[in-house]
Formats: sequence, structure tokens, C-alpha cells
Amino acid sequence: MSSAHDRIRSCVDGLFEDQVGFLTHLVRFRSLRNEEAEAQGFIEAELRRRDFDVSRFRTDASRIGHHPAFSPATVGYDTSWNIVGRRKGRVAGGRSLAFNSHVDVVPAGSADRWSHPPFQPFRDGDWLYGRGAGDMKAGLVASIFALDAIAQAGLSLRGDVQVQSVVEEEITGNGAATAFALGHTADAVVSPEPTGEKLVRANSGVLKFRLATKGRPAHPMEPAAGQSAIDLMMRLITHLRTLERRWIVEGRQKRRFKDIDNPVSLTIGTIAGGDWIASIPSDCVVEGRIGFYPGEDPRGRAAEFEAFVNDIKAGDALFSGENLVTLSWVGVMHAGYELAEGTDAEACLQAAHARVHDGRPLESHVMPCYLDAAIFAVHGNIPALVYGPIAENIHGIDERVDLSSLKRVTKALALFAADWCGIEEA
Ligand SMILES: [Zn+2]
Repeated sequence: MSSAHDRIRSCVDGLFEDQVGFLTHLVRFRSLRNEEAEAQGFIEAELRRRDFDVSRFRTDASRIGHHPAFSPATVGYDTSWNIVGRRKGRVAGGRSLAFNSHVDVVPAGSADRWSHPPFQPFRDGDWLYGRGAGDMKAGLVASIFALDAIAQAGLSLRGDVQVQSVVEEEITGNGAATAFALGHTADAVVSPEPTGEKLVRANSGVLKFRLATKGRPAHPMEPAAGQSAIDLMMRLITHLRTLERRWIVEGRQKRRFKDIDNPVSLTIGTIAGGDWIASIPSDCVVEGRIGFYPGEDPRGRAAEFEAFVNDIKAGDALFSGENLVTLSWVGVMHAGYELAEGTDAEACLQAAHARVHDGRPLESHVMPCYLDAAIFAVHGNIPALVYGPIAENIHGIDERVDLSSLKRVTKALALFAADWCGIEEA
């Protein structure tokens, strides 16, 4: 077995410049929400070229509200494609594995604040810069090249393996939900998100909301005649910090979350309001997210959030009278998960990691954010291992992934697949 491992590792080394080239190409696609089709076309062609049996399927809006893995969405899914490449195992009965990655990326922010344009990947020594380089195109490409290395080593997996490239992770999770609902599951799921070569022990549940305030527009010469929607929103956000504080305090009782300063992270991600510099604004809209703890029902938390907003409307005189605040759900409404200790899948990943890291043990940590792995863990009770490379500035300026780390992760993923699914000479 150790010689098979050595062969796989040296094949990862031998393929690595190709892997970086593939990743660089993939980062060039601006796979923002609902603009992922070209990147998915590229992944599809590459998987076909490697003789995967490829399924291409639209994100399924019809299941929203009917299947608990799905979250509310505000866009159509006509161009929202997911790709799954499957390779059948050599023998029946081998353990199956699905690598799950998302190809969608978040917007770049101010492109002019980047050292290099965000969708023109730039390599500087060990770093590859670009939006999505770390989160998580590096991981997606690592899963493909881990399997390439096994094949190039003259080995075949005994169990079925899948490479999933889904969309919508950054907003609803409905790409992974569709894959799950269509039966693209396995005995273990590995999601190579940028975790700094640690294993995710738990993540948070997340709600994504939109809040709109309705002001009374007026001329500034008559300030008393108007009420500013923007001022109302600022007041509303201040109130929401109280809810955030309350949910943070609850976390002090949660074993996995008690040491995280703010595991809830109420984030107002967008704001828009007013339409004229010299008019008291009539409307303001924000979108944001807030987290909660594994094991909790997202609908229960949503009801709590709604009740809080209703209490503000009833209790703060500024909001009295007509219905000045509207709340809607516009993205992920999903539970978090906690990875049970002691699974065979984790032991297998620990062994693979230790082999690549000169025996150093695999550390685990909590990621207080939404992860598509939660779909498989919560609804399929599947061991979902989130483990991937070192990256910096994800969702920020100058996002970058560490290529040495990526090479180690690719080796660990390959060794994991070999041991989990079993190998034989091709
Ligand atoms: Zn991600």
C-alpha cells in the first residue's frame, strides 16, 4: 500500500503545474451568481475528457418550500447549471465518495483596490491571486487532480466517486440541495473549502434576510413633514444588534461555539436607499445574514427573528402607525451541523493528512458560516468532511490561495480517496 501511496503522491507532484494552469483558467471565469454557466461548461468538458459519466442539471426552484434542503431564492434558475461527474468503482461494494465544491463566487468589491484585477489571476511565488481562487475553485480543481493522480499512478478506485461542481453556495445552497435531492450522494462527502488544512468540526446555521423601511418623503425645508427611510433603517439595525447580542450569549452554552467571540455575526451586506440628494428618502432596503447553532431548526430561528422585528414595530414609537418595516427571506435558511467524532471517514482523512504532514495530526475547528456540506450532513446523515487549502482574504480584497498548501491538500484528498474507496491496479 505504501508504494501505491508513494506513486499517487509523486503523480500529484508531476501534475501540479497542470493543476495550477487549470485553476488559473477557472479563476478567469466570472462565475458570479447566475453567471456560472461558462465555468460549468468548462468543468463539464474537462470531466467528459476524463471519461466521467457527467450529469448537467438546473438548480430546481420547484422544490423550494417543499424539500427542507432548499432555501428561498429571489432569482430564476434558467441558466443555473450544476455538474456532477461520476466514475463507477471497479467492484461492487467499495465505499463511495463525493467531492462537493461550489463554482460560484462572490463579487470582487472595488476591483481598483485589488493589486491585480480580480478575474485576471496572478501568481506571485506560492500565492495565486484572484476572486474565487481560494473560495473555492482551488478545492474543486484539487478534487479533479487528486483523481487524475490516482489514474496516472495506474490505479483504480473500487468504490464509486463523484466530482460535484455546484452553484448557489454563496447565497442559497440550492445547487447542492438539488444535487442532494436528485440522489447525488455517497458514503462520504468531502468538500475542499479553504479551511487552512483543518477539518471543520461544526458550522453554523444561517438565515439571509431583506428588510425594507418605508419613510415619508418630503422637501428638506419641511423636515417635520417627512420621515427618513434611511434614519428608520439605521434605528432598525441598532435594534438588531440587541438580537445579535442575545444570540451570541446563547452560544456561551454551546460546547463548540463558546470560545468564538461572535459566532452569530449579524452582517448587513448591502444597503440601498433614497433617490435624491435633497429629498427626505422614501425607501431603504438592506440585505443581511445572521447565524445560529447546529441542531436548531432554521424555521424556529426565522420565527424568532420575525417576532423580534414585530416587537420593534410595536414597541418603538418611531415605527408606530403604518407598516413601516417589511421583512422577507432571500437566501439560505438552513441548519448547521456538527461532525460526529469517531467516524471511519474522519479516521481515514486523519491518516491521509498525517502522511502528507510528516505525522502531524489533523486539527479541527469551527467555521461559523454556511457550508454546502450541511445539506449532506443534515438531510442525509452523511459524514461530510470539509477540508481544504490555506487561503486568505476570501470575500475580501486580494483573495489568494497558497499553492504549496494546495499541493498538500491534493495529496491528502488523493490518499483519502484511495483508502476510503479502496484501490487496485488498473
Ligand atoms: Zn466557499
